[in-house]
Amino acid sequence: MAVPKSKISKSRRNMRRAHDALRAAACNECPNCGELKRPHHVCGACGHYDGREVVEPGETWPANA
Ligand SMILES: [Zn+2]
Repeated sequence: MAVPKSKISKSRRNMRRAHDALRAAACNECPNCGELKRPHHVCGACGHYDGREVVEPGETWPANA
């Protein structure tokens, strides 16, 4: 909710911003190729998930680092 800036105390503002920090994305090693992949995501390097190939390697898959 928009509130006039002057009404927000430094303490309240800082308490709100205490949760604003970005955290590094979680990473696991791919059991197939050893490349770092995000947990519960298809491996971006070899396209494997759960012990089988799901996507062709090299195929671009959005948001899979
Ligand atoms: Zn892999």
